[in-house]
Amino acid sequence: MADILVTSESGALIIDGKAASAAVLDEVAKGAAELITSGIRPGLAVVLVGEDPASQVYVKSKGKAAETCGFHSVQHTLPVETSQADLIALVQKLNADPAIHGILVQLPLPKHIDSQLVLETIAPAKDVDGFHPVNAGLLAIGDRKRALVPCTPAGSLILLQKAMEALGRPIAGCDAVVVGRSNIVGKPMAQLLLAESATVTIAHSRTQDLASVVKRADIVVAAVGIPEMIKGDWIKPGAVVIDVGINRVAGEGLNAKGEPKTKLVGDVDFAGAEKHAAAITPVPGGVGPMTICMLMSNTLTAARRSKG
Ligand code: NAD
Repeated sequence: MADILVTSESGALIIDGKAASAAVLDEVAKGAAELITSGIRPGLAVVLVGEDPASQVYVKSKGKAAETCGFHSVQHTLPVETSQADLIALVQKLNADPAIHGILVQLPLPKHIDSQLVLETIAPAKDVDGFHPVNAGLLAIGDRKRALVPCTPAGSLILLQKAMEALGRPIAGCDAVVVGRSNIVGKPMAQLLLAESATVTIAHSRTQDLASVVKRADIVVAAVGIPEMIKGDWIKPGAVVIDVGINRVAGEGLNAKGEPKTKLVGDVDFAGAEKHAAAITPVPGGVGPMTICMLMSNTLTAARRSKG
């Protein structure tokens, strides 16, 4: 993997998610090319219901990355009023399509559709988001050989591993604190860290004295969705900080259209935390770029498994 670590003025290693993501995409493209010569072209189907602008951007980037990797890539864009039955019928059709190895239904779905029911309709072997209970269960029992792991935590683990390798420290035996217990980030992240033999604490909205909990962590993973809530002085000297949060907040001044500028920040106060951390991911440019490359990686994995 290309050099993804840069030392900042404060001496912390800044973990470059863009470079790490490019390296993963490169590997996936090579893997796909090999699989294609053996007669299987990885196929990814992305399903978008409605016209949510953020979802449209995500879906476009996913399709673009799939094409860059040499995949067969299809997109199904359905109107917002699509019935649950019609969406489920489409998923079932994709489940049965041998040219499709990965199915992603972009969330959030319109309110009249039961998202969980739709996600559970996706064949676990094609569930490249890793949200199906079968994949969550396989991850929980430590069977990564059969599981498809949710993309954001899987990408976060790669960044963490690179930083720990550079620091010459094993993850095993570290105190790891994951802040956030969502099914898509916090819980699977905790499972991955447990599989790496870290001593894992999951903190959440009801955790008392979060500062003390974070202060004892050798590894902090923040997945909360509250701008800069993890303060710099909560970070133990020498800890490694993975900031999953992506929050849009007010910036300074006006943009070219005369509107107030906005900027992205993480769940960690980066400026404060980098003074204490041995390594830290920035926002943007840290965990964010890893999600799409891990989706491509999962699609390649699903395609390889389909071959046996
Ligand atoms: P979520 O809203 O589903 O979960 C947030 C979690 O934070 C909950 O488990 C809650 O218990 C916990 N929490 C809320 N307030 C808290 C508090 N005061 N103290 C401690 N814990 C608290 O969010 P999510 O989907 O897990 O996403 C978390 C963040 O990660 C968001 O900023 C999101 O945008 C970002 N995210 C980024 C990517 C990516 O980088 N590609 C992908 C998914 C999510």
